[in-house]
Amino acid sequence: MQASDQLHRFIFENTPIRGNTVHLNHTFNTALQHQHCPPVLRKALGELMAASALLAATLKMEGALVLQIQGKGALKLLVVECTAALTMRATAKWSDDLGEESFAELIGDGRFVITLDPKDGNQAYQGIVPIEGNSISEVLQNYMLRSEQIETRIWLACDEHSAAGMLLQKLPDQPEQDKDAWTRTGYLAETVRQKELLGLSAEYLLRRLFNEEDVRLFQPKAVRFHCSCSHDSVSAMLRLLGKPEVDSILEERGNIEVNCDFCNKHYEFDKVDAQQLFSTDIAIPTSQSRH
Ligand SMILES: [Zn+2]
Repeated sequence: MQASDQLHRFIFENTPIRGNTVHLNHTFNTALQHQHCPPVLRKALGELMAASALLAATLKMEGALVLQIQGKGALKLLVVECTAALTMRATAKWSDDLGEESFAELIGDGRFVITLDPKDGNQAYQGIVPIEGNSISEVLQNYMLRSEQIETRIWLACDEHSAAGMLLQKLPDQPEQDKDAWTRTGYLAETVRQKELLGLSAEYLLRRLFNEEDVRLFQPKAVRFHCSCSHDSVSAMLRLLGKPEVDSILEERGNIEVNCDFCNKHYEFDKVDAQQLFSTDIAIPTSQSRH
């Protein structure tokens, strides 16, 4: 049986290839429990969640990796955020006319945005590319090759209860290393079936796929759902909205209610709270600002 909500790193001994596998169950279900996504989006978010953990584990960074698919049709937005500590959250926006389209039809003409947010005050890195590919794994593989110049293969699966994936990445060749290893490993990995990704433990999966290869599997890391929203982050968002807009909402409704898109946590600001949002502006005495 698959041990869930874990990420396993592995390497191929003496070949310039590394990889990891991930399986999400509780994380996936918790992230989507408040969002009544149509099945096609639920599957896409699950795959994007698995992919975000696979990619985050290959990056040497603190902070968060944010993957977004922005659509122009009935699919508006898919967002998954995964931190270096492998906590993640996800959300989707879509319009009511979303029907029985396939995912390939939904993402057509959209764009893929990848953000590395260092969360330490340093500048975030953002890459924006048109969507190339008919699936999330294809979109990501193309992105990694075109923008990052890293050969990456990704396999993803998602059913009603869980999401899973496997990533292989080609590291720079060393002179004495096996040059055909990347091609051979890719052929072997290509035989993986969705139900194997979803159902087999990392150990069995790697043994099934790479029986003849010398694979070293590392200790797993836990993955879990966590939403970073807080009263402070919602306050910051309202400040960005600006005082005139906030005042006009207060005028119309008497208070401001915000529900987090990711975890559905409810935040409420009455008139006094809302005044405090902008109190630093008000607190600067005009006499000081003039002299
Ligand atoms: Zn939240």
